[in-house]
Amino acid sequence: MSSLCKNVTILGATGSIGVNTLDVIARHPDAYAVFALTANRNVELLRQQVLEHQPVYAVLQDEAAARTLREQLAAEPVTTEVLCGIEALQDVARATEVDYVMAAIVGAAGLLPTLAAVNAGKRVLLANKEALVMTGKLFMQAVADAGAELLPIDSEHNAIYQCLPAANTAQKTRAGVNRIILTASGGPFRTVDMEQLAEVTPAQACAHPNWAMGAKISVDSATMMNKGLELIEACWLFDTTQDNVDILIHPQSIVHSLVEYSDGSMLAQMGNPDMRTPIAYGLGWPERIASGVASLDLASIGRLEFEPLDPARFPCVRLAEEAMAAGGTATATLNAANEIAVAAFLAGRISYLAIAEVVDRVMQSCTVRPADSVAIVLEEDQQARQLAEQAISASAEPRAILS
Ligand code: NAD
Ligand code: MG
Repeated sequence: MSSLCKNVTILGATGSIGVNTLDVIARHPDAYAVFALTANRNVELLRQQVLEHQPVYAVLQDEAAARTLREQLAAEPVTTEVLCGIEALQDVARATEVDYVMAAIVGAAGLLPTLAAVNAGKRVLLANKEALVMTGKLFMQAVADAGAELLPIDSEHNAIYQCLPAANTAQKTRAGVNRIILTASGGPFRTVDMEQLAEVTPAQACAHPNWAMGAKISVDSATMMNKGLELIEACWLFDTTQDNVDILIHPQSIVHSLVEYSDGSMLAQMGNPDMRTPIAYGLGWPERIASGVASLDLASIGRLEFEPLDPARFPCVRLAEEAMAAGGTATATLNAANEIAVAAFLAGRISYLAIAEVVDRVMQSCTVRPADSVAIVLEEDQQARQLAEQAISASAEPRAILS
């Protein structure tokens, strides 16, 4: 292994982002070596990934799953050590040997391992937006204190990063940047009759028109809570406020976002909707490396469309704006309530429209505290989860369970 070869830990290797990351890495065997792969409990896929990429460690959150994987690997010609639990997830993120960490666990579960990588001063490829939404200022302070290199993987934020001058986010104001424009596909329900929204199913919500993603972010895209989380993410990443960030509906997902400058120039980053582009950007930065993504054929796409956001159809965007304006622990509360509500929707316990209602109710019943430590944020996260569960149980109707 040459000294130029970078050791990579992938948190959430078995998910949509994890699989795409391994796809890019496999195209550059001399440049990247896999140090650790982690998953929640998907033993079968993690086993295949271990056999192909031969990491030093494989970590499962679930203990029984770790035992199964250990037994299965005993018969294979690999030396990978299998670990389990949240401590092990943090250990493989901060290990001295590690250069880059792909943070691609979904939800609050990714917070501590992602922060472990940040605090160890790694290059952190951030897909796990929920970690940043929860801890905003604390997260960015930790990046600065540890000298970590934070590269946004969320396609919009990666696009903005590419369109900002010299990829130097801190120089934004000096460089004449007017505003950031976050594009949004509008998801599967952009044009569905409002009356029908009460009846839409998890399968319909997960059928995103342009992107193949995990279930949670697919539902977030349908409610557009995803764009709300991304608005918060953009404020922290690019050290700006929400009045400098606009949301623009762009159903084709070709323009991944834009930056407007004071001279009237608007820079956009375009490409096929394929997460391997931002992933390759994060791995290769400041160089460009091959990603396997097909060349964008604008002539065959023909036209790109843009339209304003309809706030009545997507109340979750307003909830996120209010949380960001409230500051402190409010964004962690928003995120936790949303995670519980989305899980309940996916389990058939509540309707699609109840997701925003549950989040709204939890936001109204929580007092916002200053987010002075990760411990405080995690307390509020737990409290919001309990309140969301209560709201769901109280509102559970037989109709919702049957649908
Ligand atoms: P996914 O559901 O496909 O995968 C999630 C991964 O996290 C899996 O490997 C799973 O095993 C692991 N995981 C889940 N719960 C865990 C737990 N409690 N402890 C440890 N590991 C756990 O999700 P995804 O679509 O790959 O998204 C991952 C993250 O990237 C999310 O934060 C999402 O918002 C963000 N993101 C995804 C996309 C995309 O195109 N998929 C785009 C932008 C941002
Ligand atoms: Mg995105």
